[in-house]
Amino acid sequence: MKKRLATLLLLLSTCAFSANLHYSLIKKESGKEGHTLLIVGGIHGDEPGAYFAPMLLAKHYKIESGNVWVVPNLNFDSIVKNSRGSYGDMNRKFAKIESKDKDFEIITDIKKLLLTPKVDLILNLHDGKGFYREQTINKDVNPKAWGQATVIDQQQISGAKFGNLAEIAKKVNKGTNVELFEDLHEFNLKNTNTKTQDKEMQQSLTYFAIQNNKPAFAIETSKNITDLSQKVFYQLKTIEEFMNLMNIKFTRPFELNQTTIKKLLEDDGILEIPPTKITLDLSTLKPYIKFFPMEKDKLIYKSNNPLVAVIKEKDEYKIMNGNILVSKLKPDYAELDNSLNEIGLNLDGKKISAKMGAMVNAKNSFQIDPINGYRINVIGYSKAGVVSEGGLKIEAKDIVKSYAIDKAETTYMVQFYKDKKFCGMITIKFEDDKKAKK
Ligand SMILES: [Zn+2]
Repeated sequence: MKKRLATLLLLLSTCAFSANLHYSLIKKESGKEGHTLLIVGGIHGDEPGAYFAPMLLAKHYKIESGNVWVVPNLNFDSIVKNSRGSYGDMNRKFAKIESKDKDFEIITDIKKLLLTPKVDLILNLHDGKGFYREQTINKDVNPKAWGQATVIDQQQISGAKFGNLAEIAKKVNKGTNVELFEDLHEFNLKNTNTKTQDKEMQQSLTYFAIQNNKPAFAIETSKNITDLSQKVFYQLKTIEEFMNLMNIKFTRPFELNQTTIKKLLEDDGILEIPPTKITLDLSTLKPYIKFFPMEKDKLIYKSNNPLVAVIKEKDEYKIMNGNILVSKLKPDYAELDNSLNEIGLNLDGKKISAKMGAMVNAKNSFQIDPINGYRINVIGYSKAGVVSEGGLKIEAKDIVKSYAIDKAETTYMVQFYKDKKFCGMITIKFEDDKKAKK
């Protein structure tokens, strides 16, 4: 009987008419009057410029007047697979879609969002082929290309606020073109004249918006630009030009240039797994971590990076940042105990307390206060005859390096158990030897 139930559940999950990962909506509202810009990224999963740019915007920009709503990961299932569309081309499903289509729920939800009365202007982000020009120059630079273009479906929407689509796009391009890495990267206006000339595009997100009197533009950076930071730069620069045009005031804690973008992209973010009280700094993680405590058949997590997803694959878990594999976890399934929220420790000779899940930095040593009824396990440390490793002063040299969870091999897991039940963990990061010497 048990076996039959298991197969039935499996069948149900493969037939469900919805994607596995839903998009997120980050509403950045200033509280001050002004226009509302909706940015949709990641409609095609293999166009990383179009989802890492809105991710950085969602994470780092502050909106000072008006509002910016960001969907950085519309086609999240396809993003983590680096595929254009896992269930077909999502940007060809806005005219009609069958209710059994796996994208049905997402299309229904995003349509509702596009038509929200508060939304004044919509940007749909892409990486497109080649470099768009009105004249054919070569196989990559021609009218059929999509890259480095602001795309409109028609000249204008008469009577609509921001309805002068062509005029707006030209103004925006002028601003973007002030700063190019190469002349080839120049942005141009591409009008697909969708109503009369482009049957395919009649099924797209922007055309759906236009037909409902919502100004919408596609921003296309070029797939031929291989450096992600350059594509993200152009996307952000163009989005900023649109914000300026809509009189949306913003600040960001960095200068917009390739070097800072590169740095920001290196930060994969923080992953929190609340049920097991585990917090991880994703940028530092090793590509493979064994003995990772997890709850069976249940996966709840959150991240400050909306492109982070944790995906179960066979008997492992993949942590993704967009289309980038951050790390794989080999789970050590455990029952959970929720009774421990804070622990005491001696850090470099100083008594402190730490919340379960804390990421603690140590210079030389730590010593966890013993807790009655709980077992403390410093992964990679062992001492003959000792069952619980509280009350022991431990230095980096006392722990086997290969058990570290980070690439630099300086961060270790300290896990807490009540009987066999897992209560959570903290991580201890020892200051880098090389850095300490400087
Ligand atoms: Zn695309």
